[in-house]
Amino acid sequence: MLNKINGMNPEAQRQIFGLTPAELKTLLEELGQKPYRANQLCQAIYNQRVTSIEEVTVFPSSLREQLIEAGYRVGLPEIVQAARSVDGTERYLMRLADGETVETVWMPDGDGGERGDGSDASLEEEAVDGLEGNVSEFADAPGSGRSKPDLRNVGALELKGYRRATICISSQVGCAVNCQFCLTAKLGIKRNLTAGEIAGQVAAVLNRHKIKIGKDRINLVFMGMGEPFLNYDSFIRSVELLVKQIGIPESRMTVSTSGIEPAIRRFAHEPLRPKLALSLNASNDRIREEVMPITRKWNIAQLLEAVKTLPLGKREWVTFEYVLLGGVNDQPEHAREVLDLLKGLRAKVNLIVWNPGPGIAYTQPKPEDVAIFQKMLIDAGMPAYIRRPRGRDIYAACGQLKRTVDLPEAAPLVAIEPAATPPV
Ligand code: SAH
Ligand code: SF4
Repeated sequence: MLNKINGMNPEAQRQIFGLTPAELKTLLEELGQKPYRANQLCQAIYNQRVTSIEEVTVFPSSLREQLIEAGYRVGLPEIVQAARSVDGTERYLMRLADGETVETVWMPDGDGGERGDGSDASLEEEAVDGLEGNVSEFADAPGSGRSKPDLRNVGALELKGYRRATICISSQVGCAVNCQFCLTAKLGIKRNLTAGEIAGQVAAVLNRHKIKIGKDRINLVFMGMGEPFLNYDSFIRSVELLVKQIGIPESRMTVSTSGIEPAIRRFAHEPLRPKLALSLNASNDRIREEVMPITRKWNIAQLLEAVKTLPLGKREWVTFEYVLLGGVNDQPEHAREVLDLLKGLRAKVNLIVWNPGPGIAYTQPKPEDVAIFQKMLIDAGMPAYIRRPRGRDIYAACGQLKRTVDLPEAAPLVAIEPAATPPV
């Protein structure tokens, strides 16, 4: 039965994590079990987030054994290596059932990428900005007996009883798109991830940090390795699992695409739709073809037409990511072209200072060019944010995910204890 469901590599075929409630029901029925057992299993793998069938203690041991003997396993990706940045970001190497690996990143306090897109995450960013400015209001309340905390260390929201973080997940092993500035592109494409593997990265990280869904505020970005819109069905299925089973609302999710035009149009019709970010990265087709050869297939005008079909919510903006490459796309004339392109769109721009990688022949933009670029957009009424680079020292920043094992010595591989929870 699971052959039909997953239809992919044999190792993945008996993984339970990733199955929908209906599929769990079929699986247990085939083992002669009543439907309520499916609810129990669903609860155990998605709410309790158990990592082995032995932990499904609500099942009699005979049923657990039956499942194990039939070859079933929960099948969460396993964190086999972790590196922690000075800024608290953690990068994980995750091993999948067939031995392939992908990377996943945990960013305490988010990466700021959601600012201004109208999502729950962006409203919270703004709230935190206010909170950090006004901390004395509650930290020094009369009789509290608390001294003013160092918010850079503890995180303002922890004082309010919850934590906030963004998890960046991968959708493919490698990537086929071949953007010239991106380290992931160097891997080529190995395979698509299943929905269970995409959502499973989230569950593994939530477990590591002992996150309580419903209390802690977790945002997800589909911005790790791979092009989510070239693994469309699994991506959408993973969104469904993450929303309906794990309990993270789609308003806290953002998917980034390099611009797969037919998939953007399809995405516009999805009932459960994360926010969209389009990697624009150039101000005209000539430059974009050079840095993102996929532009020859779908040019900027075609992508923008597709983006216009998105039914935006009242407070929703489309994010355009723009990686600034020194001397290539970071000059005032480029800013003017970007403004022309995005005229009339409910858009905001996330400027990303290019993160270097070995064997990639671009240079970082000059800080003054970045500042001028941003100011030109803002002065013309276009919201523009400079994305804070997170975890650059451990190769966890945008476009630096390549798989720890392949990285040069320059990237420190700090093996850290499995259950560590850094200050958030
Ligand atoms: N494949 C998708 C999502 C993953 S890449 C996409 O391309 O949109 C996430 C973001 O990182 C994209 O906006 C991409 O343009 C950017 N990026 C890639 N390499 C980068 C690098 N070396 N420095 C900074 N940003 C980079
Ligand atoms: Fe793939 Fe995105 Fe990297 Fe381009 S930027 S190669 S689409 S991961």
